[in-house]
Amino acid sequence: MLGRQGAGKGTQCTRLSRHFVVPHISTGDMLRAAVKEGTEFGRKAQEYMSAGELLPDDVIIGVVEERLVKDDTRNRGYILDGFPRTLSQAQSLAEITAGQPLDLVVDLDVPTEVVLVRLASRRVCVDCGANYSVQVPPKHGWTCDHCGGDVIQRADDTEDAIKRRLAIYEAETAPLIQWYEERGLLMVVDGDGDTDAVTARLIRAIDSARR
Ligand code: AMP
Repeated sequence: MLGRQGAGKGTQCTRLSRHFVVPHISTGDMLRAAVKEGTEFGRKAQEYMSAGELLPDDVIIGVVEERLVKDDTRNRGYILDGFPRTLSQAQSLAEITAGQPLDLVVDLDVPTEVVLVRLASRRVCVDCGANYSVQVPPKHGWTCDHCGGDVIQRADDTEDAIKRRLAIYEAETAPLIQWYEERGLLMVVDGDGDTDAVTARLIRAIDSARR
């Protein structure tokens, strides 16, 4: 799943993974889990993440490669969220998955003006990653409706980090849209509007590609 930060990839991939009963592999979630565990790797990752920078390609490729060899992905397939983000990552992914290539790449398309507003008001649960916003907060204070965790603003949702991340998206990740189009894998889905309507659009697009 490609798409700008704030396009709703996390929310939509979580819903799609339930609908299609496949694992949702989010590199951002995996890195945030490592940060929370306080491992050496997590400490290093945090430096990049809070600055809004991408981790080095070889590091993140190693993380994804390790995850993709697990049995669940081999048997059920998977949804990749937040990876690849550079041409070199896409090329490595093609090599890693040569035996079982990707079926489809979705570009969840939301204009920059819209994601800027969404990112500034986004709030997330530190424990389960559930998404909220200033407009749609949890029911009780800033405590997660699902798991009771604290709901906060992500460290990389500050104005400076948001600008940096969106600039990196345009420079490094947006070229992948054409790269996958040239390989006949790309489907663009409008990610603007009501969350349920976007989920329905995605399911329709994926079902039609599967047929
Ligand atoms: P996300 O939650 O997908 O926005 O990811 C949060 C942060 O994790 C990014 O801003 C990067 O610092 C790091 N990250 C996640 N995925 C990747 C990736 N594929 N390549 C490099 N860094 C990544």
